[in-house]
Amino acid sequence: MLLPDDFKAHSKLKVDYHLFNKENMPSHFKFKEYCPLVFRNLRERFGIDDLDYKESLTRSQPLPVDSPGKSGARFYQSYDRLFIIKSLTSEEVERMHSFLKDYHPYIVERHGKTLLPEYLAMYRLTVDGVEHYFVVMRNVFSNHLRTHRKFDLKGSTVDREASDKEKEKDLPTLKDNDFVKEGMKIYIGEEAKEKLIETLNADVGFLTKLHLMDYSLLLGVHDVARAEEERAAYQEEDNQLEDDEDSSGSGVDQRWGGNAGASGGITTPPDSPRTLVREASLHDGCIIPELDIYAIPSSDSVERREIYFLAIIDVLTHYGVKKQAAKAAKTVKYGSNVEGISTCDPEQYGRRFIEFLSKAIE
Ligand code: AMP
Ligand code: AMP
Repeated sequence: MLLPDDFKAHSKLKVDYHLFNKENMPSHFKFKEYCPLVFRNLRERFGIDDLDYKESLTRSQPLPVDSPGKSGARFYQSYDRLFIIKSLTSEEVERMHSFLKDYHPYIVERHGKTLLPEYLAMYRLTVDGVEHYFVVMRNVFSNHLRTHRKFDLKGSTVDREASDKEKEKDLPTLKDNDFVKEGMKIYIGEEAKEKLIETLNADVGFLTKLHLMDYSLLLGVHDVARAEEERAAYQEEDNQLEDDEDSSGSGVDQRWGGNAGASGGITTPPDSPRTLVREASLHDGCIIPELDIYAIPSSDSVERREIYFLAIIDVLTHYGVKKQAAKAAKTVKYGSNVEGISTCDPEQYGRRFIEFLSKAIE
């Protein structure tokens, strides 16, 4: 049972004269965990064991990942790529507090049947007097099935195309216009589509009620045939390397799926036996239901074999904030006498979002 005060609570830790690995780690730092009981409860509901969670975040340091978002937020991945850590501003921390009061009951009500971000913890880290805020969430993508293509979809066409610079990346974040231009579809079959749209409708209804908008559907596509080719190539490489394998238990393993490219390859932590990698490779090519909770395979009735990873991200933009920002931008551009701001409201936004996805899914 959570109490109203749990949504305001925090715990703090101050560390001084910390000498472990002091060449790389600060000797003095402070740590604040927001709403610890609420998040612990959420982790439990999302089926994340607390010890595993801690292990994922601390066994080896999280790695920075490239983030094309306009927000300027920094992103990191836990070393095992199960979790995403996103930097927040202090205003976002405040908004998150108020969001949690609605989010927690919604997660309870939906029994985890949601595509909203799985928020797992929120922290403040203070080093050298500078405060850094972070939220931890589950990675939408798989940590062992490579994401070959990635889309960020909002259902809008205005300014919704990846830049040329973005497209040059190994794994660019493509947008609505790129999706439409390519004639791309999410082929999951009628039954899965119905379920997905039901979930999306519930989630969008929840966000609309809170006047939230500007969220995206993050879509990752794993191309099964391409992955098989990649695996065959690795296998060959592996056979050649087999003899001197014993000599190195560590190093850079470029093969192990996920957001490789975004992070420029995967570093196996120095003390990690490669068992995790080995275990994952046992399942190579298959969805692991406990880990790949967002995975939906393409329907048997279509020729192409794909696995889709999809969820809603970036849900914390409030209509008021958006409208103020648009107004400020217009005021700068046209002076202060502009009437009628043309930004769409959360209801329109939600409707357009669902409409776009209903057409995109087959
Ligand atoms: P602080 O933890 O004092 O660095 O605060 C960071 C941001 O989170 C500030 O904007 C605070 O207003 C906000 N904040 C901190 N604790 C709470 C709380 N219990 N409820 C709402 N907002 C909070
Ligand atoms: P955002 O600023 O939240 O829109 O996110 C920017 C980018 O970060 C997205 O386009 C994704 O590539 C990545 N990202 C954000 N949240 C997640 C997540 N939960 N799992 C995987 N990637 C994410």
